[in-house]
Amino acid sequence: MQTFEETGINPQIIKAVSELGFEKPTPIQELTIPYLLEKKKDLVALAQTGTGKTAAFGLPILNQIDLNSKTTQALILSPTRELCIQISNDIKSYSKYLNNIRIGTVYGGASADKQIAELNKGCQIVVGTPGRVLDLKKRKKLKVNNIRYMVLDEADEMLDMGFKDDLDAILETTPEDKQTLLFSATMPPEISKIAKKYMHDADEISAGEKNVGAENVNHHYYLTKAKDRFKALKRILDSHPNIYSIVFCRTRRDTKEVADKLIENGYNAEALHGDLSQAQRDYVMNRFRVKHLQILVATDVAARGLDVNDLTHVINYNIPEEPKIYIHRSGRTGRAGKTGISVSLIHSRELFRLRDIEKKLGKKITRKSIPSGKEICERQLFNLIDKVEKIEIDNAQIEPFTDVIYKKLSWLSREELINHFVSIEFNRFLSYYKDAPDLNIDENASERNESKRSNKRRDKGDFSRFFINLGSKKKVSPAKLIGLINDQTQMRDINIGRIDILDSFSFFEVESKYEEEILNAFSDCKYKGINVSVELSKEKKSSQNGGTRKRNYSKRKPDKRKRKR
Ligand code: ADP
Ligand code: MG
Repeated sequence: MQTFEETGINPQIIKAVSELGFEKPTPIQELTIPYLLEKKKDLVALAQTGTGKTAAFGLPILNQIDLNSKTTQALILSPTRELCIQISNDIKSYSKYLNNIRIGTVYGGASADKQIAELNKGCQIVVGTPGRVLDLKKRKKLKVNNIRYMVLDEADEMLDMGFKDDLDAILETTPEDKQTLLFSATMPPEISKIAKKYMHDADEISAGEKNVGAENVNHHYYLTKAKDRFKALKRILDSHPNIYSIVFCRTRRDTKEVADKLIENGYNAEALHGDLSQAQRDYVMNRFRVKHLQILVATDVAARGLDVNDLTHVINYNIPEEPKIYIHRSGRTGRAGKTGISVSLIHSRELFRLRDIEKKLGKKITRKSIPSGKEICERQLFNLIDKVEKIEIDNAQIEPFTDVIYKKLSWLSREELINHFVSIEFNRFLSYYKDAPDLNIDENASERNESKRSNKRRDKGDFSRFFINLGSKKKVSPAKLIGLINDQTQMRDINIGRIDILDSFSFFEVESKYEEEILNAFSDCKYKGINVSVELSKEKKSSQNGGTRKRNYSKRKPDKRKRKR
């Protein structure tokens, strides 16, 4: 399927989406649209943020709504008020040329009266947050007993936000034979649980394992001491004078603190977090949307409803604990064919998280050096000069003043004049960055410290390195090795770290707490006719590595291994 026309969707709907600039279906749309037009089965659809999931369910549902009836036929649940409004606006714009369609939007934090008045007119599609939907259902203002479609959008977020009980109560009175559609960017175990609980024999569709938008995202990290985090943030902001970015923090307190400090330091920044009133949040979000605000400091929850997708950078002031959150965040940049950068500020003890994220992301996160004061000054200077060159000049308006200006500045030479102008903006950077220290830390040094620490602290982040007498000569790849480890241990939840495949042997890392399991599992194992030998390696390569290792392999195969490493 190459075009929307080929899907058989109502030409009036196609006309509206073409006007929105949709030329052809995105991969998830290509999969779900024909599916939903033909089948009546429940469906789990997975695709990363920004891949067009709203239209993926919105278009086929719109196409199948009975416009002659006023009963509610589709209920779309979404975790936040902002997302509800966004989905509702999107569906309204797709149905611009349909007659007699009415879409109701119901969410908390706003008066129910208007929403009820809307519902009373008869809405075939209702988009709502679980809390308000349940409330209106209980008050008999919203009837869900005739719905044919039930969409759980961003279901993982809904669970995170504790809507499970509401969901249960809403679903109670919906028809058995409705089609339940679950859309999510990730498939954490909880989603499989909802799928099992609320859906019957659901099919699963997933478009692109990797974040489609993320193809255009470069991932960088900067290693610095925890106490220098804010200074490092400033340097990154300063070295990108035209940055348009969300800075993600873990807590409301951090968010507030970072935003306050940025504002104090003269940046065009604001905070967005749960402590703000709805009006304050709307105000901040709007300013950011129209780019009056350059930097938004936010928590994940607060930023969730913000439909801004042309960020130049996503900055992780704190690296999230869960890879899926990182993937979510970084999906906010690099959209619509533009490139974006996802930046993480981390200190050495967070390195292991980065590795975890890399694995889930399927991409490398490259280390960048925190720019020095001199580099920043250079960038700022060029940016300023660039602005001077490109500024549009309204000669007619300036004319009346030029005489006075020329006279007043006549004592300055051309060179002096340029220096004066440049210094107006530039002095603040020069003075701030005068004698600025290097904020980078040595990764190796920090890894050494880290392993020292790990010797004492053997927690989840600790990995042990194993030697195995299989290598690429036996056609062993990382995937095969992982398969072998899973098969031998019969455990699928062991975290596997770095894998190094060499010609006739390899190394792999596994969470240290599974050391025994691994050694036992391979105590009697054959692979392609040879006896497999797995032993703990003394080598420490990654930051996760810790613990004292008793054996040293260099005794067993001295020459070869020395040469290889
Ligand atoms: P998701 O729910 O997957 O995060 P959205 O449905 O919010 O993504 O869509 C992200 C953006 O992509 C929106 O701005 C939307 O208008 C746009 N979009 C959706 N489908 C298409 C398409 N087929 N062609 C071009 N743009 C699209
Ligand atoms: Mg969405």
